[in-house]
Amino acid sequence: MTKHIFLSGIYHETHTFLNQPTTLKDFIIYKNDDVVEKNTGNGSPMDGFIDYATKQNWNIISGIQMSAIPSGIVDEESENYFEENFFKKLEENYKQFDAIFLILHGAMVSKNHDDFEGDLLEKINNFLSKKNIKIPIVAVLDLHANVSEKMIKNSTCVYAYRKNPHSDSRETAVKAASILNSLFENPKVNQVFHGTKYILPPTGVGTANDPMKSILQEVIKIEQDDDNIICINVMAGYSYADIADCGFSLNCCTKGDIAVAKKYLKFLESILESKINSAYPKENTLDEVVEKIKNLPNSEKPILLIEPADNIGGGTPGDATDLLSNFLKFDYDGIVAIINDPEAAKICHQSKVGEEIELKIGAKFDNFHGVPIPLKARIENVSDGKFKLENKQSHLASMMGININMGLSAVLKNKKLTLLLTTIKTPPMDLGQLISQGIKPDDAKFIIVKAAVSHKDAYDPIASHSFYIDSQGLCTSNLKRLPFKKIGSKVIAID
Ligand SMILES: [Zn+2]
Repeated sequence: MTKHIFLSGIYHETHTFLNQPTTLKDFIIYKNDDVVEKNTGNGSPMDGFIDYATKQNWNIISGIQMSAIPSGIVDEESENYFEENFFKKLEENYKQFDAIFLILHGAMVSKNHDDFEGDLLEKINNFLSKKNIKIPIVAVLDLHANVSEKMIKNSTCVYAYRKNPHSDSRETAVKAASILNSLFENPKVNQVFHGTKYILPPTGVGTANDPMKSILQEVIKIEQDDDNIICINVMAGYSYADIADCGFSLNCCTKGDIAVAKKYLKFLESILESKINSAYPKENTLDEVVEKIKNLPNSEKPILLIEPADNIGGGTPGDATDLLSNFLKFDYDGIVAIINDPEAAKICHQSKVGEEIELKIGAKFDNFHGVPIPLKARIENVSDGKFKLENKQSHLASMMGININMGLSAVLKNKKLTLLLTTIKTPPMDLGQLISQGIKPDDAKFIIVKAAVSHKDAYDPIASHSFYIDSQGLCTSNLKRLPFKKIGSKVIAID
């Protein structure tokens, strides 16, 4: 018998300390058949599910998919738009569904929902219970999800990315789909949730490093040794959400004894606690880094200056100037940087390529990311800002697929700096962003990278050294600088 699967998705990681809301126009929205049509072959988690479902001959009935780059609290119009479209389609078709499959992020906060995904899953569950329908609800989550007990209670199985950078987002959806397939055979499973008191900065949760590395190694052992365990998810959490459920958590889906599953999660928490210092890495000041650079042997490869405080993939505007303006004061050249500045990009498009212009760059989105930099430079290149990922498994594919649009873009160049200006903020997760605009990252001496971990697959292989620098911005790794109100007694730093 062909299985009929209701497929939908909502993807947003919400930075609640930003003062500009995320609105409907910030979302890419697909409805009905477009969900399958637009995602097929684009390398995203949705593509992974569609591929698996097609091979199984499942009939996909699509509802709605909305996704936006991490940014401020999602407004009421957007949350309502998703809910209305989702439940309309569910209401019309629920009788034929054998399962519900959702591609979520798990860290969305909207005007009326601190725990958007938890409330959504609860509403779905209540809807099905009222109709007396019992079907599996399976969801894909991002490793940075702030998972709530409500999400776990109201789903059959969640399955999350295990790599950060998220090179495994598509394959995670394939695996989740295969779990769904096994649930058709054996629907008797339970999920167990285990929250912790820790909120970890993004710089502390890369999976190549502890604590994530050691915890995930143990997870793989448990899954291999105990056939009852369907999966254990290590949820790093997303620290820029001032909500009760913010932070690191663990969950497990099991065919066996719940008490055993709980014991595993408690054990994994103890690994986190034994490695907790690595979860709060210390960053350098720019002066400290400049001292270190002076003592480095000469290298042909660029040095990365990582600026986590303006981590675009974490929600900030990508226009922070603190690090760039201060680095320009030193006697260095060969610097490559990217600033999201629609106004400046537009001015370049209205001017001529080759012309030298003077303009003020960056720090226009809000008051948290420095002051605009006066810059005199030649316009090297202008473009529509569209590019294809160099690496199809890039972290960026988990958010947007392989075709990326930075909006009107321009390249400015002077003696010290080559600067890419974009109109749509675009996380630096793939070298195609620079190469497509005529900038050769390998030729740079320094590249300023607005990221925490997600840049690593793209940038680490071309670099000689990489330095994390503490600067001004709302994705600061120093969580004590942020005005948390709702997290109770959770731990945000280790002294
Ligand atoms: Zn993530």
